[in-house]
Amino acid sequence: MMPDISEDIRLPVACPSCGSHLYRVSKVHNPDDKVFCASCKRFLCLYHEAETLLEQGPSDELEAMIEEVVNRRHH
Ligand SMILES: [Zn+2]
Repeated sequence: MMPDISEDIRLPVACPSCGSHLYRVSKVHNPDDKVFCASCKRFLCLYHEAETLLEQGPSDELEAMIEEVVNRRHH
């Protein structure tokens, strides 16, 4: 059984779909956990990528990376 424990985190990047900065992630905080938009449930990135965003803030490189991830998921 997987307990449904999640928490909301704020990230410096806006959701590509709705512009929200609030995201939902599992409390387990595995690096491979998926981070979803809290509003529209869109997949943003993995937790270790979100951690990098929190530590460093959005850089061009990270934004490009997230765009790439988002585009890849789009197909
Ligand atoms: Zn959203």
